[in-house]
Amino acid sequence: MRSIARIMRATGSLWPFYLGILICSVLTAVGSLATPFVLKFATDAVVAALNGHGESTVRIIFTFAGLYLVMQLFSTFISNYGGYLGDIMGQRMRSLLSTRYFHKLLSLPQSYFDTQLTGSVVSRLNRSIAEVTFFIKSMSNNFFSTIITTIAVLIIMFVYYWPLALLLLVIYPTYLWLTGLTSRKWQVWERDKNEHIDLAGGRFNEVISQLRVVKSFGTQARELAAFTRHFTDTVSLTKDQSRHWHRMDNFRRSALNIVFFLMYLLIFWKTLEGDFSLGDMVLMIQLMAMASQPVAMLSWIIDSAQRAIAGSREYFEVMSLPDDPRSGSVVAPTVTGTIDRVSPDGREERAPMSNSSESLPDPVITFEDVAFAYDGEQAVLQDINLAVSRGEKVAFVGESGGGKSTLMSLLQGLYIPTEGRVTVAGFDTSTSTLGQMREAMGMVFQDASLFSGTIAENIAYARPQATREEIVEAAKQANADVFVQQFADGYDSLIGERGLKLSGGQKQRIAVARAILKDAPILILDEATSALDTRSERVVQEALDRLMIGRTSLIIAHRLSTISAVDRIVTLENGRIREVGTPSELATSGGIYSELLELQMSATAADRQRL
Ligand code: ADP
Repeated sequence: MRSIARIMRATGSLWPFYLGILICSVLTAVGSLATPFVLKFATDAVVAALNGHGESTVRIIFTFAGLYLVMQLFSTFISNYGGYLGDIMGQRMRSLLSTRYFHKLLSLPQSYFDTQLTGSVVSRLNRSIAEVTFFIKSMSNNFFSTIITTIAVLIIMFVYYWPLALLLLVIYPTYLWLTGLTSRKWQVWERDKNEHIDLAGGRFNEVISQLRVVKSFGTQARELAAFTRHFTDTVSLTKDQSRHWHRMDNFRRSALNIVFFLMYLLIFWKTLEGDFSLGDMVLMIQLMAMASQPVAMLSWIIDSAQRAIAGSREYFEVMSLPDDPRSGSVVAPTVTGTIDRVSPDGREERAPMSNSSESLPDPVITFEDVAFAYDGEQAVLQDINLAVSRGEKVAFVGESGGGKSTLMSLLQGLYIPTEGRVTVAGFDTSTSTLGQMREAMGMVFQDASLFSGTIAENIAYARPQATREEIVEAAKQANADVFVQQFADGYDSLIGERGLKLSGGQKQRIAVARAILKDAPILILDEATSALDTRSERVVQEALDRLMIGRTSLIIAHRLSTISAVDRIVTLENGRIREVGTPSELATSGGIYSELLELQMSATAADRQRL
């Protein structure tokens, strides 16, 4: 229950709703308690009229039926208003918790995502937040009024005939205790089930997003079987869970009904003895019905409370992970779940520098005695020392697994070096906010990740305020304008699932246009052309060459032909720098680069011969 209280505290800004719902609950309880009294007085008045004492029966009928109607209408309207407040509060809470969760994910270090299935993160978010909100919403709609009614029932019974109240005071805690016994076991099953559901969700996401691979390997059946297995496991867990729960429920309810049976006996006996009037008996019978309400609700409340507790635990498990200390530029959601345009520490989101190369320090990038291990033990990079001057173009070459991409990840501040220091544009990547550094960097990756949306939106991703002219100009420089113009909707064509199919080279040119528009003084090109055929490669390379003019550029390349114009080449092997030199120096040095160059030249020659 502590985690639910934590959720309520975390959403304290919703207090006007909590208060409004509480008031509605009290009024609903008053309305529903008044009804049994109306019926009691009506019965007594009818009996009196039948015995010839009192007013005419017609008047009695109209008076009490009218009162009954008024009380019922009053309860209905108030409880519906409470329901309305509850719905809005639920949705606000959901939006607040989801926004904070998303904000948290955006602020976590990259290493968190190395160990998580994306789909699991999403599945967990949806489930835990939905369950917490559902519980709090339904609790506030039903729970308060039931508690108030129950207390009132106990007091009235105590005043009329105390043993009735005493019996209720015995059975309520017993019932609660018996339910509590079941609930701990129930939670373990629930957690196991959720694990399976999250794993299935994670795999589902992966498979659907890489459906081509699955289809090309013909592994649909295997994937489907693995997915189904998770759900079969949840079914067998549910069997155990539900069997246990319902068996215990039989037991609990039997105990309850025996006590209720005794209470009814007492009521009828007291009426026959003449201690209760007929009206009193009607009142008691009505109160008995009310007394069973909290019990009927209890299993439901406990069931959804358990889900909500499990959900809120999972929620806080993620929420209490330490932020990447450098994620200061991720804007924080406000208490209402909307987004402020300022960062959490109050600073305005501003570009820390102009995008011109002149404002950069020289050297622009430094690696000083850098070592790095993803797991903290197995070094992937060691003794890296390198300084890149302003405007210089440096290519990284080496066998796959040598550490080239890791080096770029360090440069982007995705990971913090285990030893040594990396600086970019004068910022130490270990301590500076990521926004500060990335403002200075443009990137083009091998796999041009475009978002759903229009081509224009994708080009303007880093600068949403860019004008259409700027977007078109960037596309022209990226050799993209011609093919974009050929689409019926031009720059407004939708990319994505239901939209346009773009070829690898086209996507890549959009990514280049994006980098051109960002106009950052530092560029990182991570095997930007390696997945393309020779023709597209040439067009993209041309665009990249144009993009690199005047910018400090770091390039990872497989095809050495694409980097003949760079200033320096750095070769990496097993995480260490082996050679540094100009292309012509290294070509004749007999080292790794010259070997690779020879290999590629002979491969190209063989290709030519085959043609
Ligand atoms: P390259 O780009 O030169 O092919 P990488 O930098 O991708 O090399 O990989 C260097 C080493 O780091 C490899 O042994 C690889 O297995 C390991 N590695 C890469 N990414 C991760 C990761 N996210 N977690 C753990 N190890 C990784």
